[in-house]
Parts: sequence; structure tokens; C-alpha cells
Amino acid sequence: MAGRELLQIPGPSNVPRRVLEAIAQPTLDHRGPDFMELALKVQRNLQRIFGTGGPVVMYPASGTGAWEAALVNTLSPGDRVLFYETGHFASLWNRLAGRLGLDPVVVGGDWRRGVAAEPVARALEEDREHRIRAVCIVHNETSTGALSNVSRVRQAITDAGHPALFMVDVISSLGSVPYAHDDWQVDVTIGASQKGLMLPPGLSFNALSAKALAAHETAKCVRAYWDWSDMLPGTERGSFPYTPASNLVVGLSEALTMLLDEEGMAAVFKRHERFASAARSCVDAWGLEIQCEVKEERSNVLTAVRLPEGFDADALRGLIRERFDVALGNGLGQIAGKVFRIGHLGDLNETMLMGTLSAVEMGLRLSQIPIVKSGVSAAMDRLQIEPS
Ligand code: PLP
Repeated sequence: MAGRELLQIPGPSNVPRRVLEAIAQPTLDHRGPDFMELALKVQRNLQRIFGTGGPVVMYPASGTGAWEAALVNTLSPGDRVLFYETGHFASLWNRLAGRLGLDPVVVGGDWRRGVAAEPVARALEEDREHRIRAVCIVHNETSTGALSNVSRVRQAITDAGHPALFMVDVISSLGSVPYAHDDWQVDVTIGASQKGLMLPPGLSFNALSAKALAAHETAKCVRAYWDWSDMLPGTERGSFPYTPASNLVVGLSEALTMLLDEEGMAAVFKRHERFASAARSCVDAWGLEIQCEVKEERSNVLTAVRLPEGFDADALRGLIRERFDVALGNGLGQIAGKVFRIGHLGDLNETMLMGTLSAVEMGLRLSQIPIVKSGVSAAMDRLQIEPS
């Protein structure tokens, strides 16, 4: 098909040309001084992006690997772990914990909102023997488009006087919405490269607190590839215990410079907020329902849209891909076929957003899915009201 394809799934997101060009440079000697210097700079910039003065361990792996690393480095077989089920990704993480020999306990979850602090507080207050060793939440639930209030959950843990570790998955929020590992007293933050950081998939991260490092000393889960003990010395030297995904690290260096030092995080967050607000105005004008029912928790990263009963969201996505060359996210798990997801994250401008929304509107019309009025015009109005 002539013209460009639009990749508007909620990650992997579009990779800027500059980052692609950085990745395409000849591979460096990963034990040589140039790469080590670059890796140290990346370490410092990762600390800025996570909001931490502590180490950030980087794996050549997708986000799932960093989920596993967080658990096996801090816990022992049979340890109870509290998960809040915000959606498909929270559910995948707790199933992974079960497969690792941990004892996941799941609270919450109608998949239509972020984490409610009350059930977490209740579960911790009832756990008088402190058998729960960790509380795990997903900051931005990519399957539903709900963003949780991390500091409120932290407060619930603190108020309960509970010593559990606090782990937060920021795989789809990092670099798109504000995050503060140290201020929110998170023990392990899990991130990945392919969303707000504007890189291809293949890198993932654990940001660590002093308490996580102390837990690591006694944690007995079997680990080898993921072992922080092997990774940590390199975070101060720019070295790795095995071959890093060095070309991706060079790309990451470029992407972090663009975000932190050129556009600036305040502007990056504002851009995500504007685009999300335009996308939501569009969906509201269509008269379709947004999966996340709680307005204040609607994500600036993606919008998951529910179709009326009797319409197939995958058929709609297929039509939009074939006719208009726009890739949208599918419904996952229990909402498969019922929702489609519009990614508005990463390297995105007004024109890409409006192209995407126009393609969706044309797809809705062609599929004879009833809409109230043009959402595209509502989105344009919103972008004009809130200039960049
Ligand atoms: N957590 C969240 C919030 C995600 O969005 C994803 C992937 O989209 C994952 C975890 C799993 O990460 P990966 O697919 O990189 O292994």
C-alpha cells in the first residue's frame, strides 16, 4: 500500500528516526571504553527517568524477564505475594509468580479501573503474621487503559504498618506519565524499552531500593541469568556480566537525551496529556464507552474503547488495518473482541494522532457501528483549545 503504515498499538511504539539511526551504527566492543562510558551515562539518565538515586539493572529481555527478575531476586519459594488485578497484565504477572513457586494472592479487579487502595489495606491489616512478602501492582494497565495512583497504594502499605516489599510495573507508563521511584518508596520498579522510551522491544529494567537490596541478601528463589548480584557491580562501571544488547543501549542513550535534555519531561508528559484528552473527546463524541470507568484514572498512554454488544472489535481492527494501514491494539483476555485500543504514546504528533482517529472513524462507519457524531472534529477542537 502506498504511504506510511501507522503503528498505533500501545507499544511497541513508533521509534524516532534518530534512534533507529543510532541503533544502526556499527556494533561497539561492549568491554571497550567507548561503550562503557556510554553505558554509565545511560545508567545516570535511567535514574533520572525512574526518579531514583539507586541502581537500575538493565536486562537484554522483554518486560516479562524483568517481572521475573524482580520476584526471584527478592523472594523465596512459597512466599506470599499480593497482586491487584487491574487487567490482563496484572493477571499474567501473578500467574508467572505462581509458576516460580511463589504463593500469589489476588485482590480487586473488574478490569474497569486502577488499583483501589482499600482492598490492599484490608488484606495487609488482616495479615497480622506478615506472611505477605510483597505487594505488586501495574501502574498503567495496558489492557484497559487505567492508570493507578502509586503513592496512594504506598500510603496504604505504610498505614497498615506492613513490612511487605512494594513492586510496581511501569512497563507502559515510564517516560509517558510522571513516576517517582524514591519519593513513592517503591522497592522494585519494572520497566521496558518499547513504549514511552521510544525504542524497539528488547531491553527491560529493575530500579531498586535499599530495602530491595537487603531482601536480595536472603532471597532463596533460584536465579542465574537474572541475578542482581552479577549485574550490580556493572551499574557503577558501565559493564555487564554477559553480552548486553549493545546496539539497543546506544539507541536508548539517544532516546533518553531526546526525552530528558531536549524536549524535557514536563513537555513530554504534557504532550501525552493533550493527545489523550483529544482521543477521549473523540470517543465521547462517537458515543462509545471507554473501558476505564473512572475518569481521573484514564490513561494518557492509551484509550481502550468498548464496542456496543453484537459488534466484533477484532473485525473492526482488521478492516482498519486493511483499508487504512493503521495498526490498533486488540482486546486481551476477558475483553478480547470487545474492545480495541488506541495507543497515543511515544514518538507521536498531532497529525499521527488525527490520522489514527480518522481511520478509526472511517472504520466505524464502514462497519456500520452506530456513532452519535464525528469524534475527529471533537478531537481537533480539543487540540485547538489546548495548544501545545
Ligand atoms: N506489563 C505491561 C503493563 C505491559 O504492557 C506488558 C506488555 O505489553 C508487559 C508487562 C509484558 O512485557 P513484554 O511483552 O515486554 O514481555
